Amino acid sequence: MISRIDLRGTAFPEGGIDRDLLPRAELDVEAALEKVRPICDDVRHRGTAALIEYARRFDGVTLDRVRVPADALTRALAGLDPAVRAALEESIRRARLVHREQRRTDVTTRVVPGGTVTERWVPVERVGLYVPGGNAVYPSSVVMNVVPAQEAGVGSLAVSSPPQADFDGLPHPTILAACALLGVDEVYAAGGAQAIAMFAHGTEECRPVNLVTGPGNIWVAAAKRLLKGRIGIDAEAGPTEIAVLADDTADPVHVAADLISQAEHDTLAAAVLVTTSPALADAVAAELDRQVAATKHTERITEALTGKQSAVVLVDTLDQGLAVVDAYAAEHLEIQTADAAAVAARVRNAGAVFVGPYAPVSLGDYAAGSNHVLPTGGCACHSSGLSVQSFLRGIHVVDYTRDALAEVAHHVVTLAEAEDLPAHGAAIKARFEWKVPQG
Ligand code: NAD
Repeated sequence: MISRIDLRGTAFPEGGIDRDLLPRAELDVEAALEKVRPICDDVRHRGTAALIEYARRFDGVTLDRVRVPADALTRALAGLDPAVRAALEESIRRARLVHREQRRTDVTTRVVPGGTVTERWVPVERVGLYVPGGNAVYPSSVVMNVVPAQEAGVGSLAVSSPPQADFDGLPHPTILAACALLGVDEVYAAGGAQAIAMFAHGTEECRPVNLVTGPGNIWVAAAKRLLKGRIGIDAEAGPTEIAVLADDTADPVHVAADLISQAEHDTLAAAVLVTTSPALADAVAAELDRQVAATKHTERITEALTGKQSAVVLVDTLDQGLAVVDAYAAEHLEIQTADAAAVAARVRNAGAVFVGPYAPVSLGDYAAGSNHVLPTGGCACHSSGLSVQSFLRGIHVVDYTRDALAEVAHHVVTLAEAEDLPAHGAAIKARFEWKVPQG
């Protein structure tokens, strides 16, 4: 069912291989932009009324308000299955352990006596956190968004997730319960592009935010791209991807299970095996057939695995395998080879790397302590997953005395003149005995 790309015998150029040789979904975010633009404009102009209309059109629910009432959060927490509560609490505990350590401290550099530059890390004031809820519901994404924002010290945070027809138009109760567990009381029942527009422009019910984070489908990704600038965004975290780099020591049962686990997210999810072992490739293909038939979301998974974004890639050597996974820059990369830690240390592009047979992506999805909101679509070659850092801004504080400025003044004036910006130099000269140039 899964296609095969045979790169054995291919010459791998020094600078890395051509990304176009590799499988990737044809996700046309640019085309989706044209569809989400009127939705975002409508939310900007009509606020809650527009959100209610899109909830009817896209989510099949009739709402009279978008803000989730406080008692719905309390009820959801009271009704939460105790086993799910314990699992969420453990997930939160582990995420806090990891994210707390990510907080950067302010750094002051004494450039010269009397001249310092401090980088001061300040949390974003207000953030909107998107939690997907179309094909599946993601209380885990509540944890992954909220914990780093809280650890960064964000003062005001709001969560939005699609309204669910089965739950009176509220977001899924497990999402509401996760919000309540984390102490989040500002929650909205809005999904897709319209939720991002609500955060960016504000409505009668929701104050605009400074930054929006969180994963979502193509409509969410397109709205984030469209509204970037008005709001800050995290990396585009679209349909999930898993790449597995494996040799003949890998267990085909594990590899197949892990590929299927991510294909389960979305028909557009990508599952890619890169291997030096044709025998493993055959065994994984057979395992995929067996396991897909036995799993719950067979149809969605089959579509994802047979889509052009998923494939088994055969290479001659592990070095070539590393070149392939670096060019692909997967959201999730598993290393299932001999000496996996040494191989993992050589990876340069990935959202997150999972090392060896006992660190499957599912662990990272829920309870490794790492964050699961990660860059997709090749963005891992320039962007990072969500972290405490995503919610902080570094402010440079420049503090120079008269003597410290005097020492460097002639260099500043010279550079200002070289750039033909004499007023810049004049601002320095005005502080000393130099005459400000006329005309
Ligand atoms: P979602 O919440 O992102 O999208 C659902 C919303 O899409 C609906 O509420 C609706 O408003 C809107 N919508 C549906 N059809 C539309 C249409 N035709 N036009 C305009 N808007 C429309 O939920 P989802 O669809 O399940 O997608 C979640 C995605 O998030 C999956 O692709 C999953 O792989 C991904 N994900 C990524 C990460 C990551 O870190 N990269 C983590 C978790 C989930």
